[in-house]
Amino acid sequence: EAKDRGDGGYERYRPGMEARGAENSRRAAALRVALLEDQLVVYFQPVVTLPDGRITGAEALVRWQHPAEGLLGPGAFIEAAEQTGLIVPLGAWVLRAATREAATWPGEQSVSVNVSARQLREPGFPSLVAAALTESGLPARRLTVEITESVAVGGGATMENLRGLRDLGVRLSLDDFGTGASTLTLLATCPVHQIKLDRSFVPDGRPDAIADAVAQMARAFGLEAVAEGVETAEQAARLTRLGYEKAQGFHFARPMPAAELRARLTTTVAVP
Ligand code: C2E
Ligand code: MG
Ligand code: MG
Ligand code: MG
Repeated sequence: EAKDRGDGGYERYRPGMEARGAENSRRAAALRVALLEDQLVVYFQPVVTLPDGRITGAEALVRWQHPAEGLLGPGAFIEAAEQTGLIVPLGAWVLRAATREAATWPGEQSVSVNVSARQLREPGFPSLVAAALTESGLPARRLTVEITESVAVGGGATMENLRGLRDLGVRLSLDDFGTGASTLTLLATCPVHQIKLDRSFVPDGRPDAIADAVAQMARAFGLEAVAEGVETAEQAARLTRLGYEKAQGFHFARPMPAAELRARLTTTVAVP
C-alpha cells in the first residue's frame, strides 16, 4: 500500500514497477469516471469505548461500487489514486460525504476520515475542511482527521495545515501507529489528539509490550489511545487493562453501509 512506504509519495525502484505504473494509470482513469458517476460509497466502521462497547463514532472507509468487478476496497484503488493525484478530489468527496452523513447521527458521535499525505500538502486544505463542516452543519469537534506517520516528511506546508485543522477545532489522529517512522519528535511537534495503535501490534498471544508502550506514550503526551483491528474479546480485555480508551475491529462491528450504522445509532439511543 502506498501509505506503507512511509515517505510521502516516492518509491524506490522495484522490478515490475513499470507494469504496476501502467495498471495504476488504467485504474485511475476508471476511477476518474467513477467519481463523476457516483460509483464511490462510504462505509462506516463503529469506534467503541472500552470496556463497555458503546458506539462513540465511526471511521469512514471508502469503497468503489465497480460496475463490472463489484464492491472494491481501498486496497484496490487508493494507491493508484495517490500516484496520479486523484486522491485529492477523491479525498474531498469522501470528506463531504462523511461529514454530511455524520451530521444526521442522533448524538455527539464523531466521524473519522482518512487523509493521505498528498492531500495534507495541498495549500488551503483547512479551508476545504471548513467548507465541508459548514455545508454539512457538523460541528468541528465531531470530525477527526486520521493521518499517518508519513506526514512527518511533508515539511512546512503539512505542519501548517495540521495547525490550521487544529485551529478549526477538528481532532487529529495518528493512524497505523507504530508502522511508520514514528519518532518522539513527531509526537512532540505534531498537534494530534489521538493515537491509533496499528492492528499488527494488537496483543495476540504474544507479549503485550508494544501495545503497553504505546498506551504509556499516549498517556505521557496527553493523547487518547485507540486500538484498531480488535478481533476477539480476549484482545479487547487486554487492551482495556493496558489503558486503551477506545477500540475498533471485527469483534465489535465490521465496516457497514451508512444506513445500517444510522439504524444502530438510533436503536442505541431509543433503548437505553
Ligand atoms: P485504516 O485507516 O487503517 O482503516 C482500517 C482498515 O482495517 C479498514 O480496511 C478496515 O476495514 C480494516 N479493519 C477494521 N477492523 C478490522 C479487524 O478487526 N481485522 C482486520 N483484519 N481488519 C480490520 P479498509 O476499509 O480496506 O481500508 C484500508 C485502508 O485504506 C485504510 O486503513 C486507509 O488507510 C485507506 N483508506 C480507506 N478509506 C480511505 C479514504 O477515504 N481516503 C484515504 N486517503 N485512505 C483511505
Ligand atoms: Mg484510518
Ligand atoms: Mg488504521
Ligand atoms: Mg491500519
